[in-house]
Amino acid sequence: MIQSTLSTDLINSYYLPVPSKSESVNHTYLDKRVTKSQRGTKRTRSQRARERLQTKKHLVGLARELHEGELADKLDRCHSRLSVLTCGRHIARIIPNFTCEFRLCPDCGRRRSRKLQTKYLPLMKAFVLHNKVTPVHLVLTQTHRKESRKESAARIRNSFTKLTRRSFWKDKFKGGTWSLELTKDKNGFHHAHLHIIGFRRKFFDIELLRDEWLAVTGDSHVLHLKPILDLAAGLQEVVKYVSKPLDIRRFGAADLREFLGLKNMRMFGTFGEFRDFCKGFEPSDNDNATSDLESLARDLVEGCACPQCSEPLFDLRLSKGELPEFYERIESSPPRSP
Ligand SMILES: [Zn+2]
Ligand SMILES: [Zn+2]
Repeated sequence: MIQSTLSTDLINSYYLPVPSKSESVNHTYLDKRVTKSQRGTKRTRSQRARERLQTKKHLVGLARELHEGELADKLDRCHSRLSVLTCGRHIARIIPNFTCEFRLCPDCGRRRSRKLQTKYLPLMKAFVLHNKVTPVHLVLTQTHRKESRKESAARIRNSFTKLTRRSFWKDKFKGGTWSLELTKDKNGFHHAHLHIIGFRRKFFDIELLRDEWLAVTGDSHVLHLKPILDLAAGLQEVVKYVSKPLDIRRFGAADLREFLGLKNMRMFGTFGEFRDFCKGFEPSDNDNATSDLESLARDLVEGCACPQCSEPLFDLRLSKGELPEFYERIESSPPRSP
């Protein structure tokens, strides 16, 4: 297996393109969005690093506009200087000077979703193995209303709680995880989606689940379900909403102010029997698939052999603006001849 980078690229595409076409306000639009977010978009690391820089600059600007000087300074400082352990072609590890831990910070979001992956992947693998269940990725949507972001999030979470209490759901699913995706369209409507990794006990007709969802929401029947063939990739797909909880590039100062007022809105959680399973399960090193990579990266120092090409690693100091260019150099460099 080729490990493209150890610690920086465990997570791939974070950002979906901002929909450019005008979006009609109807259910078909929601359907399209679901398919779109399911597909995601492959971007190069340099593009993603550049987008993170832009997102952060935008956030800093909004924070200053709101006279949140402390927040702006923290965001500005976060990941502003990087110590990159590299062979010149591969990156083994990146250590930032400072992490702001602000929930909308794209750099800190990456770290947070990586932590979730490290924690939950072994649990999921063990759960599937112990229970003979099939993981599926389910996306639930709701029709939008004139409401705040907080109301929109609460409405879909409440509907989901109701769904999980119904006998149809209990019969078909043995728990799972959820993550919340909130977007805002150009008409100012908030759209909430729940991305669920559900552990399915048995097959069922998707139309029946649609009916169930309609029964609890009253007006929403749009959902999307696909099997997860690779748990690591499936988990990565749903936790990306933890690193990119909101559509920040559409944010104005008022959105940031609203978000600052939300404080503790949860964006990820477990439910059902999987939730209980997580409480009683202490993963050992052997069960932990990603921690092998993580711990390997942690142990590497300058002078060690690059895990991918065996060339010696050296420590490169970069400022935040230099990282995209460094990725670009790596992306355009031809493979090393043997
Ligand atoms: Zn940060
Ligand atoms: Zn290398």
